[in-house]
Amino acid sequence: VASPVTTESLTLRRFDFSDTSQVAHLLTRSSGRLNALAKGIKRSKRAAIFDLFSHGRLTFLPRPSGQLQLVTEYDAIATFPAIRASLPRLHAALYFLELAIEIVPEGEPNAAAFDTLLSGLRGLEAEAPASAPALVLSFELEFLSLGGFAPRAGSCLSCGKDVGRAPEPFRFSPGEGGFLCRDCFAARGPKPALAAPVARAALKILESLSRRETRAGERMTAPKLPDGAIPPLRSLMDAHVRATIEKDLKTARFLPRR
Ligand SMILES: [Zn+2]
Repeated sequence: VASPVTTESLTLRRFDFSDTSQVAHLLTRSSGRLNALAKGIKRSKRAAIFDLFSHGRLTFLPRPSGQLQLVTEYDAIATFPAIRASLPRLHAALYFLELAIEIVPEGEPNAAAFDTLLSGLRGLEAEAPASAPALVLSFELEFLSLGGFAPRAGSCLSCGKDVGRAPEPFRFSPGEGGFLCRDCFAARGPKPALAAPVARAALKILESLSRRETRAGERMTAPKLPDGAIPPLRSLMDAHVRATIEKDLKTARFLPRR
């Protein structure tokens, strides 16, 4: 019999398993993403593990990856009431959870993903709802960077010139996860997939956000972005995330956009 594992968890999703049981889909700090059956814990503590976002201390009896893990203890650490009380925060947080489900492989330990998601949720809980759009950009770039999935904004995909020197405007190429400078875009043949022109300043913001690293245990802060910077960056990230995970995130359309 395997010995129990104690770790921290965040609740990403819940679903019905039978008429009488629900399963919590969790991102854990030590054991990655997993499905957990919570029949073994007290009824009074059971509710919290099924609340989306819930941060808790979890003990479970490990079973092979892909099977239901059996929870024996759960204590809620944080339930993020401010996120639940504000639509911009709530929609941002739901997007964080869906991104985690799509990006973090099941059953593979990924403490950095756990820490970044927790930092992002803590940031949303603490910041004003008006800061949610900037915090979303910061979170997704930091989160995607962990797996090497952030857009490459430092240089032109084709000529390799630094964005500080290459001629603007740039064009985003979603399938390639990066940008072409004005000259390389003009030199390309068919270009239906490439969207609107992007200014150098926008790429510099993307690059600086990709380099942010919130330390484990700290809360993420919303970056101060220039007026008008968020809507075009939001559109870029929508296209990039769609191309990266090869589908639309259901929660993306509800994101606060300005
Ligand atoms: Zn170029």
